[in-house]
Amino acid sequence: MQINKTIVVTGAGGVLCSTLAEALAKQGHKIALLDLNKTAAVKVADKINKSGGLAIGIQANVLEKDSLISAKEEVNATFGKCDILINGAGGNHPLGTTTNPFLEADDLMNKTEGFKTFFDLDPKGIQFVFNLNFIGTLLPTQIFAQDMVGKKGCSILNVSSMNAFTPLTKIPAYSGAKAAVSNFTQWLAVHFSKVGVRVNALAPGFFLTEQNRTLLTNNDGSLTSRGNQIIEQTPMGKFGEPEDLVGTTLWLCSEGASFVTGVVVPIDGGFSAYSGV
Ligand code: NAD
Repeated sequence: MQINKTIVVTGAGGVLCSTLAEALAKQGHKIALLDLNKTAAVKVADKINKSGGLAIGIQANVLEKDSLISAKEEVNATFGKCDILINGAGGNHPLGTTTNPFLEADDLMNKTEGFKTFFDLDPKGIQFVFNLNFIGTLLPTQIFAQDMVGKKGCSILNVSSMNAFTPLTKIPAYSGAKAAVSNFTQWLAVHFSKVGVRVNALAPGFFLTEQNRTLLTNNDGSLTSRGNQIIEQTPMGKFGEPEDLVGTTLWLCSEGASFVTGVVVPIDGGFSAYSGV
């Protein structure tokens, strides 16, 4: 990778993208860590700076253009033009999630408080998830890719999911939103192909993070039945570690991937290749 690129990472205070930011900083790049949670972004930036890297933590909302514009002004003033954008902010919402994987005939009759079928899904929850994952990828791209047009060695890395290939039960909003992120990755790769900006995506499998810890593990650390199902469906038989995303990220952001655009790379221990039989 060419040294001293300016790399903007959204959702950089989170588990996966803080690891990517630290790894990219170790390669000598200048890292702007954007997150809704300023404390989290600044904490990661401080860690990078203390270990000899160059980073800045900036509060930014990927759903607000004005917030992104002022973040860009701060990035440009501190580190110059943005070369690489990693759209990492994303996540799910309980209001876009059903209680059970399958609808059963008597679910509608015997409903208890808090039990959510497909028919109870709240459009506000669905909209939250589509906005965060899809609009939250599109808007930062509109703002930061303006720096990249016509400049050499620029690229964008989106963060999709296994759900984009085949939806997981219970989370239709998140699955649809990540499918939109994968589709947008291809669309944008084609759209930007004449101006030298490559666009690719990571499709992480299952990583234990704060977002999914209660879905996948019990209080005592043992796996929930959903956690067990995921491990059984993962040929390598384990969750991924955030560091497992680093190699693909470094590659896709480097000159070594200069003819690679529009790909969505599964990093999933074989989950997406396995039929379960
Ligand atoms: P995380 O919750 O640890 O990090 C997400 C970060 O995004 C948080 O720091 C949060 O403050 C920030 N954020 C939320 N809304 C924001 C907004 N409006 N503007 C700016 N920042 C905002 O999650 P993670 O598990 O590290 O996930 C990172 C990415 O990877 C997400 O896009 C997620 O959907 C995706 N992903 C995660 C997994 C997994 O197993 N954890 C699997 C596939 C894909």
